[in-house]
Amino acid sequence: MIEGLVVERAGQKIGVLADGKIYRAIPLGKVRKKEKIYAGDKVFGKVVGSDFVIEKVSERKNLIPRPPIANVDRIFLVVTIKEPPFQNFLLDNLLVVYHHFGVDSVIVFNKIDILEDEEKKELERWSEIYSKIGYTVLQVSAKTGEGIDSLENIAGSGISVFAGPSGVGKSSLVSALTGESLRIGEVSEKTERGKHTTREVKLIRFKEGFIGDSPGFSRVEALNFMDKKEVARYFPEFLECKCKFSSCLHLGEEGCEVIEKVKSGEISCERYKSYLKMLKTFADWLSEVEGCKD
Ligand code: GDP
Ligand code: ZN
Repeated sequence: MIEGLVVERAGQKIGVLADGKIYRAIPLGKVRKKEKIYAGDKVFGKVVGSDFVIEKVSERKNLIPRPPIANVDRIFLVVTIKEPPFQNFLLDNLLVVYHHFGVDSVIVFNKIDILEDEEKKELERWSEIYSKIGYTVLQVSAKTGEGIDSLENIAGSGISVFAGPSGVGKSSLVSALTGESLRIGEVSEKTERGKHTTREVKLIRFKEGFIGDSPGFSRVEALNFMDKKEVARYFPEFLECKCKFSSCLHLGEEGCEVIEKVKSGEISCERYKSYLKMLKTFADWLSEVEGCKD
Protein backbone atom coordinates (compact mmCIF):
# COMPACT_ATOMS: atom_id res chain seq x y z
CA MET A 1 0.00 0.00 0.00
CA ILE A 2 1.05 3.58 -0.55
CA GLU A 3 0.18 6.63 1.44
CA GLY A 4 -1.89 9.52 0.11
CA LEU A 5 -3.54 12.72 1.25
CA VAL A 6 -7.11 13.66 0.40
CA VAL A 7 -6.76 17.08 -1.25
CA GLU A 8 -10.16 17.33 -2.95
CA ARG A 9 -13.60 16.50 -1.70
CA ALA A 10 -16.72 17.38 -3.68
CA GLY A 11 -19.88 15.32 -3.39
CA GLN A 12 -18.82 11.78 -4.22
CA LYS A 13 -15.59 12.91 -5.78
CA ILE A 14 -12.39 12.38 -3.86
CA GLY A 15 -8.95 13.48 -5.03
CA VAL A 16 -5.90 11.91 -3.46
CA LEU A 17 -2.36 13.19 -3.75
CA ALA A 18 0.10 10.31 -3.83
CA ASP A 19 3.62 10.22 -5.21
CA GLY A 20 3.26 13.77 -6.45
CA LYS A 21 0.15 13.08 -8.54
CA ILE A 22 -3.53 13.69 -7.92
CA TYR A 23 -5.65 10.57 -8.48
CA ARG A 24 -9.37 10.12 -8.56
CA ALA A 25 -9.94 8.01 -5.50
CA ILE A 26 -12.41 5.24 -4.79
CA PRO A 27 -12.85 3.93 -1.27
CA LEU A 28 -13.36 0.20 -0.83
CA GLY A 29 -16.90 -0.70 0.25
CA LYS A 30 -15.83 -1.59 3.76
CA VAL A 31 -14.08 1.78 4.12
CA ARG A 32 -17.09 3.66 2.78
CA LYS A 33 -19.41 1.89 5.18
CA LYS A 34 -17.25 2.65 8.17
CA GLU A 35 -16.56 6.32 7.75
CA LYS A 36 -16.85 9.53 5.82
CA ILE A 37 -13.75 10.75 4.12
CA TYR A 38 -12.67 14.35 4.43
CA ALA A 39 -10.12 16.61 2.81
CA GLY A 40 -7.03 16.37 4.99
CA ASP A 41 -7.48 12.67 5.63
CA LYS A 42 -4.39 10.55 5.37
CA VAL A 43 -5.22 7.40 3.45
CA PHE A 44 -3.54 4.19 2.41
CA GLY A 45 -4.28 2.23 -0.73
CA LYS A 46 -3.22 1.07 -4.15
CA VAL A 47 -3.03 2.70 -7.53
CA VAL A 48 -5.16 0.71 -9.97
CA GLY A 49 -4.95 2.09 -13.50
CA SER A 50 -5.60 5.81 -13.12
CA ASP A 51 -7.46 5.45 -9.82
CA PHE A 52 -6.38 5.32 -6.21
CA VAL A 53 -8.26 2.67 -4.27
CA ILE A 54 -8.54 3.67 -0.62
CA GLU A 55 -8.15 0.69 1.69
CA LYS A 56 -7.62 2.49 4.94
CA VAL A 57 -8.18 5.94 6.47
CA SER A 58 -5.78 6.95 9.24
CA GLU A 59 -7.10 8.13 12.56
CA ARG A 60 -7.66 11.90 12.51
CA LYS A 61 -6.11 14.25 14.98
CA ASN A 62 -9.04 16.63 14.55
CA LEU A 63 -11.92 17.50 12.25
CA ILE A 64 -13.31 20.99 11.82
CA PRO A 65 -16.83 21.48 10.52
CA ARG A 66 -16.20 24.53 8.42
CA PRO A 67 -14.64 24.11 6.01
CA PRO A 68 -14.90 20.34 6.52
CA ILE A 69 -11.21 19.45 6.81
CA ALA A 70 -9.44 16.86 8.94
CA ASN A 71 -5.98 17.03 10.52
CA VAL A 72 -5.81 20.79 10.52
CA ASP A 73 -2.54 22.06 11.96
CA ARG A 74 -3.60 25.64 12.48
CA ILE A 75 -6.25 28.24 11.90
CA PHE A 76 -5.12 31.68 10.90
CA LEU A 77 -7.64 33.92 12.61
CA VAL A 78 -7.50 37.09 10.57
CA VAL A 79 -8.65 40.32 12.22
CA THR A 80 -8.05 44.04 11.74
CA ILE A 81 -7.81 47.08 14.02
CA LYS A 82 -9.90 49.02 11.51
CA GLU A 83 -11.87 48.38 8.32
CA PRO A 84 -13.57 46.53 9.91
CA PRO A 85 -13.01 47.65 13.53
CA PHE A 86 -11.57 45.10 15.91
CA GLN A 87 -14.07 43.20 18.04
CA ASN A 88 -12.26 41.14 20.61
CA PHE A 89 -15.43 39.26 21.60
CA LEU A 90 -15.66 37.90 18.06
CA LEU A 91 -12.00 36.82 18.08
CA ASP A 92 -12.30 35.30 21.55
CA ASN A 93 -15.27 33.21 20.44
CA LEU A 94 -13.34 31.92 17.45
CA LEU A 95 -10.35 31.07 19.65
CA VAL A 96 -12.57 29.12 22.02
CA VAL A 97 -14.44 27.23 19.31
CA TYR A 98 -11.40 26.20 17.29
CA HIS A 99 -9.60 25.19 20.47
CA HIS A 100 -12.62 23.02 21.26
CA PHE A 101 -12.09 21.30 17.90
CA GLY A 102 -8.49 20.63 18.86
CA VAL A 103 -6.83 23.09 16.50
CA ASP A 104 -4.21 25.73 17.31
CA SER A 105 -4.91 29.31 16.34
CA VAL A 106 -2.52 31.91 15.03
CA ILE A 107 -3.83 35.47 15.27
CA VAL A 108 -3.15 37.60 12.21
CA PHE A 109 -3.70 41.34 12.37
CA ASN A 110 -3.98 42.39 8.73
CA LYS A 111 -4.14 45.86 7.11
CA ILE A 112 -1.43 47.32 9.31
CA ASP A 113 -0.61 49.64 6.40
CA ILE A 114 -3.65 51.83 7.10
CA LEU A 115 -3.10 52.43 10.81
CA GLU A 116 -2.46 55.89 12.29
CA ASP A 117 -0.28 56.31 15.36
CA GLU A 118 -3.07 55.87 17.91
CA GLU A 119 -4.32 52.78 16.09
CA LYS A 120 -0.82 51.34 16.06
CA LYS A 121 -0.84 51.63 19.83
CA GLU A 122 -4.10 49.70 19.90
CA LEU A 123 -2.52 47.07 17.69
CA GLU A 124 0.40 46.72 20.09
CA ARG A 125 -1.87 46.61 23.12
CA TRP A 126 -4.01 43.80 21.70
CA SER A 127 -1.02 41.93 20.31
CA GLU A 128 0.51 41.89 23.77
CA ILE A 129 -2.69 40.68 25.43
CA TYR A 130 -2.80 37.66 23.13
CA SER A 131 0.89 36.88 22.94
CA LYS A 132 1.15 37.02 26.73
CA ILE A 133 -1.33 34.16 27.00
CA GLY A 134 0.54 32.05 24.50
CA TYR A 135 -0.87 32.80 21.06
CA THR A 136 1.36 33.55 18.12
CA VAL A 137 0.40 36.99 16.86
CA LEU A 138 1.37 38.26 13.43
CA GLN A 139 1.07 41.80 12.10
CA VAL A 140 0.81 41.88 8.33
CA SER A 141 -0.38 43.75 5.29
CA ALA A 142 -1.61 41.85 2.27
CA LYS A 143 -1.35 45.12 0.38
CA THR A 144 2.27 46.09 1.06
CA GLY A 145 3.59 42.62 1.85
CA GLU A 146 4.82 43.67 5.28
CA GLY A 147 5.02 40.72 7.66
CA ILE A 148 3.98 38.24 4.97
CA ASP A 149 7.27 36.34 5.31
CA SER A 150 6.37 35.25 8.84
CA LEU A 151 2.97 34.10 7.61
CA GLU A 152 4.68 32.19 4.80
CA ASN A 153 7.02 30.45 7.19
CA ILE A 154 4.20 29.18 9.36
CA ALA A 155 1.90 28.27 6.46
CA GLY A 156 4.74 26.48 4.69
CA SER A 157 4.09 23.21 6.47
CA GLY A 158 1.05 21.26 7.58
CA ILE A 159 -2.59 22.12 6.84
CA SER A 160 -3.78 25.69 7.42
CA VAL A 161 -7.21 27.28 7.23
CA PHE A 162 -8.03 30.99 7.18
CA ALA A 163 -10.97 32.21 9.25
CA GLY A 164 -12.28 35.51 10.57
CA PRO A 165 -14.84 38.22 9.84
CA SER A 166 -15.63 39.18 6.27
CA GLY A 167 -13.67 42.04 4.78
CA VAL A 168 -10.52 41.55 6.91
CA GLY A 169 -8.48 40.30 3.96
CA LYS A 170 -8.50 36.50 4.21
CA SER A 171 -8.83 36.09 0.49
CA SER A 172 -6.18 38.73 -0.19
CA LEU A 173 -3.75 36.94 2.13
CA VAL A 174 -4.37 33.55 0.56
CA SER A 175 -3.84 34.96 -2.90
CA ALA A 176 -0.71 36.81 -1.73
CA LEU A 177 0.62 33.41 -0.66
CA THR A 178 -0.69 31.02 -3.29
CA GLY A 179 -1.97 33.11 -6.16
CA GLU A 180 -5.41 31.55 -5.69
CA SER A 181 -8.36 33.24 -4.04
CA LEU A 182 -10.72 31.80 -1.49
CA ARG A 183 -14.05 30.36 -2.44
CA ILE A 184 -16.88 32.60 -1.33
CA GLY A 185 -18.56 31.14 1.76
CA GLU A 186 -21.86 29.54 0.82
CA VAL A 187 -23.28 29.14 4.29
CA SER A 188 -25.30 32.03 5.63
CA GLU A 189 -23.59 33.81 8.49
CA LYS A 190 -26.66 33.70 10.69
CA THR A 191 -26.95 29.95 10.64
CA GLU A 192 -23.32 29.05 11.14
CA ARG A 193 -23.22 26.08 13.42
CA GLY A 194 -21.22 22.96 13.94
CA LYS A 195 -22.83 21.08 11.10
CA HIS A 196 -20.69 18.90 8.95
CA THR A 197 -21.50 20.28 5.57
CA THR A 198 -20.81 18.48 2.35
CA ARG A 199 -19.53 21.50 0.55
CA GLU A 200 -16.70 21.21 -1.88
CA VAL A 201 -13.29 21.70 -0.45
CA LYS A 202 -9.81 21.60 -1.87
CA LEU A 203 -6.39 21.91 -0.31
CA ILE A 204 -4.15 24.33 -2.15
CA ARG A 205 -0.50 23.33 -2.17
CA PHE A 206 1.78 25.87 -0.55
CA LYS A 207 5.48 25.04 -0.14
CA GLU A 208 5.55 21.88 2.01
CA GLY A 209 2.05 22.58 3.30
CA PHE A 210 -1.57 23.03 2.25
CA ILE A 211 -4.14 25.78 2.63
CA GLY A 212 -7.89 25.19 2.68
CA ASP A 213 -9.53 26.87 -0.32
CA SER A 214 -12.58 28.06 1.60
CA PRO A 215 -12.77 30.23 4.70
CA GLY A 216 -13.57 28.99 8.17
CA PHE A 217 -16.06 30.58 10.52
CA SER A 218 -16.49 34.32 10.32
CA ARG A 219 -18.29 34.48 13.64
CA VAL A 220 -19.43 31.90 16.12
CA GLU A 221 -21.12 31.57 19.46
CA ALA A 222 -19.23 29.32 21.81
CA LEU A 223 -22.39 27.94 23.44
CA ASN A 224 -23.58 26.56 20.09
CA PHE A 225 -20.72 24.10 20.32
CA MET A 226 -20.21 23.34 23.98
CA ASP A 227 -21.54 23.38 27.47
CA LYS A 228 -21.14 26.43 29.71
CA LYS A 229 -18.78 24.50 31.95
CA GLU A 230 -16.41 23.83 29.09
CA VAL A 231 -15.77 27.43 27.99
CA ALA A 232 -13.26 28.31 30.74
CA ARG A 233 -11.02 25.47 29.60
CA TYR A 234 -10.27 27.37 26.41
CA PHE A 235 -9.03 30.51 28.16
CA PRO A 236 -5.35 29.63 28.61
CA GLU A 237 -4.83 32.36 31.21
CA PHE A 238 -7.56 30.86 33.42
CA LEU A 239 -5.92 27.44 33.43
CA GLU A 240 -2.91 28.80 35.26
CA CYS A 241 -5.04 29.98 38.17
CA LYS A 242 -5.35 27.97 41.33
CA CYS A 243 -8.91 28.58 42.40
CA LYS A 244 -10.10 27.13 45.69
CA PHE A 245 -12.61 24.85 43.94
CA SER A 246 -11.51 22.77 40.98
CA SER A 247 -14.99 23.20 39.52
CA CYS A 248 -14.71 27.00 39.76
CA LEU A 249 -16.45 28.77 36.88
CA HIS A 250 -14.87 32.08 37.93
CA LEU A 251 -18.21 33.76 38.41
CA GLY A 252 -17.80 34.98 41.97
CA GLU A 253 -17.09 31.75 43.82
CA GLU A 254 -15.05 31.98 47.00
CA GLY A 255 -11.28 31.83 46.53
CA CYS A 256 -11.34 32.45 42.77
CA GLU A 257 -7.90 33.37 41.53
CA VAL A 258 -9.16 34.37 38.10
CA ILE A 259 -11.15 37.19 39.68
CA GLU A 260 -8.15 38.20 41.80
CA LYS A 261 -6.04 38.45 38.67
CA VAL A 262 -8.66 40.44 36.79
CA LYS A 263 -8.71 42.89 39.70
CA SER A 264 -4.93 43.16 39.75
CA GLY A 265 -4.80 43.62 35.98
CA GLU A 266 -2.81 40.46 35.39
CA ILE A 267 -5.72 39.00 33.40
CA SER A 268 -7.14 41.32 30.75
CA CYS A 269 -10.60 42.46 31.78
CA GLU A 270 -11.57 42.54 28.10
CA ARG A 271 -10.82 38.83 27.92
CA TYR A 272 -12.74 38.22 31.12
CA LYS A 273 -15.67 40.25 29.77
CA SER A 274 -15.66 38.09 26.65
CA TYR A 275 -15.89 35.07 28.91
CA LEU A 276 -18.90 36.51 30.73
CA LYS A 277 -20.57 37.42 27.45
CA MET A 278 -20.01 33.93 26.07
CA LEU A 279 -21.72 32.53 29.13
CA LYS A 280 -24.43 35.17 28.71
CA THR A 281 -23.92 36.44 32.21
CA PHE A 282 -22.40 39.54 33.84
CA ALA A 283 -20.55 40.48 37.01
CA ASP A 284 -21.60 43.68 38.76
CA TRP A 285 -18.28 43.89 40.63
CA LEU A 286 -16.52 44.59 37.34
CA SER A 287 -17.68 48.21 37.48
CA GLU A 288 -15.38 48.68 40.48
CA VAL A 289 -12.33 47.53 38.56
CA GLU A 290 -10.48 50.36 36.94
CA GLY A 291 -10.69 50.34 33.14
CA CYS A 292 -13.11 47.45 33.19
CA LYS A 293 -16.43 49.22 32.91
CA ASP A 294 -18.80 48.58 30.06
P1 GDP B 1 -12.13 38.66 3.09
O1 GDP B 1 -13.60 38.95 3.05
O2 GDP B 1 -11.66 38.48 4.50
O3 GDP B 1 -11.68 37.55 2.20
O4 GDP B 1 -11.41 40.02 2.61
P2 GDP B 1 -10.81 40.39 1.16
O5 GDP B 1 -9.54 39.70 0.91
O6 GDP B 1 -11.90 40.27 0.15
O7 GDP B 1 -10.47 41.92 1.40
C1 GDP B 1 -11.47 42.91 1.70
C2 GDP B 1 -10.98 44.27 1.25
O8 GDP B 1 -9.83 44.68 2.00
C3 GDP B 1 -10.52 44.30 -0.22
O9 GDP B 1 -10.95 45.52 -0.77
C4 GDP B 1 -9.02 44.23 -0.13
O10 GDP B 1 -8.39 44.83 -1.23
C5 GDP B 1 -8.74 44.98 1.15
N1 GDP B 1 -7.50 44.54 1.82
C6 GDP B 1 -7.12 43.27 2.09
N2 GDP B 1 -5.94 43.26 2.72
C7 GDP B 1 -5.55 44.55 2.86
C8 GDP B 1 -4.41 45.18 3.46
O11 GDP B 1 -3.49 44.56 4.01
N3 GDP B 1 -4.38 46.55 3.43
C9 GDP B 1 -5.37 47.28 2.85
N4 GDP B 1 -5.25 48.61 2.88
N5 GDP B 1 -6.46 46.73 2.29
C10 GDP B 1 -6.55 45.38 2.28
ZN1 ZN C 1 -12.11 30.67 39.66
